[in-house]
Amino acid sequence: MNSIIIFGVFVADLCFFGNKIPTRGETVLGNNHLVGPGGKGSNQAIAAARLEGNVKFITKIGKDSHAEMALSLYKEAGVDTASVIQDPSLSTGVAGIMIDENGHNAINIVAGAAGHLQNIDIDKNLDVIKDSKIFLTQMETPDLTTMYALKKAKENNCLTILNPAPARKIQKEDFSLLDFFTPNETEAEFYLNKKIETKEDIQNAAKEFLSMGVKNIIITLGAKGVYFENKEENYFIDALSLKDEVIDTTGAGDAFNGALAVALAKDSNYKDAIIFANKVGGISTTRLGAASSMPLLKEVEEY
Ligand code: ADP
Repeated sequence: MNSIIIFGVFVADLCFFGNKIPTRGETVLGNNHLVGPGGKGSNQAIAAARLEGNVKFITKIGKDSHAEMALSLYKEAGVDTASVIQDPSLSTGVAGIMIDENGHNAINIVAGAAGHLQNIDIDKNLDVIKDSKIFLTQMETPDLTTMYALKKAKENNCLTILNPAPARKIQKEDFSLLDFFTPNETEAEFYLNKKIETKEDIQNAAKEFLSMGVKNIIITLGAKGVYFENKEENYFIDALSLKDEVIDTTGAGDAFNGALAVALAKDSNYKDAIIFANKVGGISTTRLGAASSMPLLKEVEEY
């Protein structure tokens, strides 16, 4: 099957649960602690591999226990780790997540090794990029390298997908590097600097992205599904009506993007690819966590 190359970040999520989030200078006694895999690129790689995509992941981690967690997870999911760079002089990225009894959180992310990804790391992987049909990335890696990677992917005839999360500034000229741009509503608002509330707002926003140079715009709308537009066609697709309760929407966007990459790698037409991604995103909300909520292909087919 055609390969998918994903460029992104892994961090270990260190979750501290307690009655309240401590304020400055305060110490609280918590009641639970969990360590789990995080990072949007990593979540998307796992999502795509669990859907039986042929996935290679470019990232940078250290040589510590968090790195071991990442590598064993990739082995289990079937992510090719030949392009995972291990630098023993750097620490694997971490996110310190404080969660109170109402589920509200406060997060401090230290990208660690992944914050040291450079253009040369892309250059070293040009052969892998050249052999891939799909290139997928997000906005957690250093900006200049993210855009450099997209440029190299385009030069090597990949179909590029940028999931702009977290939303960060993109230079005007770089939008034309994007075959697919997949913001959620909040991210779309950030780039257009205006509120998106009605269906008409969504359609107007999509047109603006196309005029900026994006070839295909997909705005994900959470429980409302998704909107697609390119020069030839446009449509809304309703969210999957779920058989199970929504438990945790964390990682829904990652599930969506990983699934989109897999379907496009299989040469599905765009509408079928979006319907598949919409289904996978929906299923992921019925399970707890991000990486752990990504469904297997068999589970998607049976749902
Ligand atoms: P993000 O997780 O990046 O904020 P969204 O919330 O837009 O992104 O979710 C991504 C996709 O996941 C949606 O377009 C939809 O396909 C699916 N999804 C999210 N929330 C739900 C839900 N409550 N019910 C069904 N599908 C959902």
